[in-house]
Parts: sequence; C-alpha cells; structure tokens
Amino acid sequence: MSWLKQMKGDAYIGYRAIVVHPLKKLVSQDGRTGKQRFLDNYATEGLVPTGDEDQHALLAASRCINCGLCDFHDLVLGTVPRHQYSGMSLFPVAYTRWTSDLARLSKAVHEVTDDALAAGEAVCPTRVPLRILAAYVRRKTGEVAKAMSP
Ligand code: SF4
Repeated sequence: MSWLKQMKGDAYIGYRAIVVHPLKKLVSQDGRTGKQRFLDNYATEGLVPTGDEDQHALLAASRCINCGLCDFHDLVLGTVPRHQYSGMSLFPVAYTRWTSDLARLSKAVHEVTDDALAAGEAVCPTRVPLRILAAYVRRKTGEVAKAMSP
C-alpha cells in the first residue's frame, strides 16, 4: 500500500502549507524577512544566502569535473600556504559552494589575476567560466565580511 503512504504524506504536506503555515504567519510577532532570519541564525558561521542572481554562476560551477588542469596556470599557488588557498580549480568545486571558508581565503581569491583565470579557462575541457566564478566568490567574500561584522 505504498500509494496510501504517499497520499498520507502529500495530505500532510498540503495541510502544513494551507493551514498551519498561514496561521503561524498570522499570529507571529516576528516581522523579520526570511533572509534576515537566515542571517541572524547563520551569519556568524560565515554562511550567506544565495539569490536568483547567483544561479548562473552556481550552474556554471557544476560543469567542473575536477581534473585540475587549470591549476597549472595558477601562480598564486606557489606564494600562498595550501591551508589558505589550494588553486583556482577550487573556485567551482569548493569556494562557490561553501561560503564559510571565504573569510580565511579573502586575500588569495583577490590575488588570482584575470589573465591566469583566462589561461585556466583556455585549458578547461568543460569550459568552466573561472573569471565569472572568481567574481562571484569575491562578491560573496564581501557579503560574508559584512554579515560577520558586528
Ligand atoms: S580545468 Fe575546468 S574542469 Fe578541470 S578543474 Fe579546472 S575548472 Fe574544473
């Protein structure tokens, strides 16, 4: 009777959406927006919300197959300790996905030049737009710094 289980699950979700949620909103004294509530809960951990404007960059990041070819063009790798920065290949596979690390990376992500990123893009087999991702990460780094400041 898996269909009955499914129906019960759907009915419960519908009940929550149509009855419980609107009633909770009606009696709630909390005037904060969803974004503000998110920031109040998670900003201290370096987590910032993603918006519609972030979708393009995040979709592009998902094309990375983590081959590491672009890292050969990353001159910052030789100048920054690995625990601070591990190469431009981490823009798509890590830095775009987890903003908690951005506070400690802020110096390195600003040092990677557009020329180096362009060279990385040129050898990328899946055409990941590293310059767009670097700009995204730099913008998010600013948002994290702002959210974490008292
Ligand atoms: S070359 Fe492209 S696919 Fe390979 S790690 Fe770099 S961004 Fe990812």
